Amino acid sequence: MEWQKGELIYEGKAKRVYSVQGSPDYCWLEYKDSLTAFNAQKKGSFEGKGLINSEIATLIFRFLKRRGIPSHWVAKVSPVEMVCERVKIIPLEVVIRNRIAGSTAKKLGWEEGREIPSPLVEFYLKDDALGDPFLSDDQALLVGAVQDRQTLDSLRQQALKINGALREMFSTIGLDLVDFKLEFGMNSKGNLLLADEISPDSCRLWDQQTGEKMDKDRFRRDLGRVEESYREVLQRLKTRWGDQL
Ligand code: ADP
Ligand code: MG
Repeated sequence: MEWQKGELIYEGKAKRVYSVQGSPDYCWLEYKDSLTAFNAQKKGSFEGKGLINSEIATLIFRFLKRRGIPSHWVAKVSPVEMVCERVKIIPLEVVIRNRIAGSTAKKLGWEEGREIPSPLVEFYLKDDALGDPFLSDDQALLVGAVQDRQTLDSLRQQALKINGALREMFSTIGLDLVDFKLEFGMNSKGNLLLADEISPDSCRLWDQQTGEKMDKDRFRRDLGRVEESYREVLQRLKTRWGDQL
């Protein structure tokens, strides 16, 4: 199938979304080199970041597909671009936590790294102007982020399934999946699909041997070696999974 890039629909913090000529059910995602944190108050970038995240996301979406977990991913069309099924994004950031870190450590007064016996799934409203606030189920329904409780249940169930698969995938490359953010959407057939990206921008990944952070916290907290860490995650994934998926 020959895909033709259409017009720009939306430019986000990390990606540009284009239409696909003649295929309204698809979109064309171009990964940018920019890095943002704290609701884009902190900005940065490095050359090759878009390529790294695009390749990592591709390997992950392919791995999930092998595990029977559907996503929007359709095809890689360039080193920094992929064609995906176009979805109506559910305006929730679905966060899964296996260990305490970041805002939760602060909120509970617990040390970072404490293991969570049974993974937590949380919903945050995807709204930069409001700073992506935490939502209870009732609040998610109240603001109309989803139409019914069943959708929240499906999101939770999918998120936990993805968590199981990804923890396994990352542990094969010596990384601990501490927490991560997912986005879902509805395609034209009315199916709930995993969308957006999964990358060191959206995951906390700690080296199992050294405890070293290998994700966006290096940028958020000025820990240095941001680019090297992103590259290392891709390199390990490619070495282990590159020719298997
Ligand atoms: P943002 O700054 O809003 O987080 P990004 O830079 O991450 O934006 O760009 C991607 C945008 O495209 C996001 O708003 C995301 O929700 C949306 N998106 C991701 N996957 C799809 C898809 N398959 N169909 C439609 N929109 C999508
Ligand atoms: Mg985004």
